[in-house]
Amino acid sequence: MDNTNSTICEVVTSLRGGIKINVHGYLMVKDKNRNNKYYWYCEQRDALQCKGRATTILNGEQHYLQDTSDHNHAPEASRFDIVKSINTMKEKARETDDQPAQIIQNAISSTSSSQEVYTYLPSNEALRKSIIEFVALIFLQNHSLYGISLFLKT
Ligand SMILES: [Zn+2]
Repeated sequence: MDNTNSTICEVVTSLRGGIKINVHGYLMVKDKNRNNKYYWYCEQRDALQCKGRATTILNGEQHYLQDTSDHNHAPEASRFDIVKSINTMKEKARETDDQPAQIIQNAISSTSSSQEVYTYLPSNEALRKSIIEFVALIFLQNHSLYGISLFLKT
């Protein structure tokens, strides 16, 4: 198999532990895999009835793009940054003693499209809540209940 001309797709882990990849700015959700061949569908499949799909070949740790189909909408590069920043928050919550509010602040300001993340976070209540709940849960595991009650008031 010759993968020399293939694009390597960046991988992110979603909030629920699923795998997503970035294919030309489109976030794709794992559908299934057969051995090292992975099948992906567009994250906007249900929301926009998008039929965008992709297949990749997993070689070592990397997904090589093999085939992709058209989408019925523009790519959302900033969504990818948002998912990445969420992962950063999750890691920081596990690894540091920082306050959750501080973790969220740092993660947002370090993304390449920080302005977009800023405007995105407050407007998407479900996503905002899931981030805060996750970071708060990790914080609870590491700290006292008093700490978390302080955080939830801010
Ligand atoms: Zn799509």
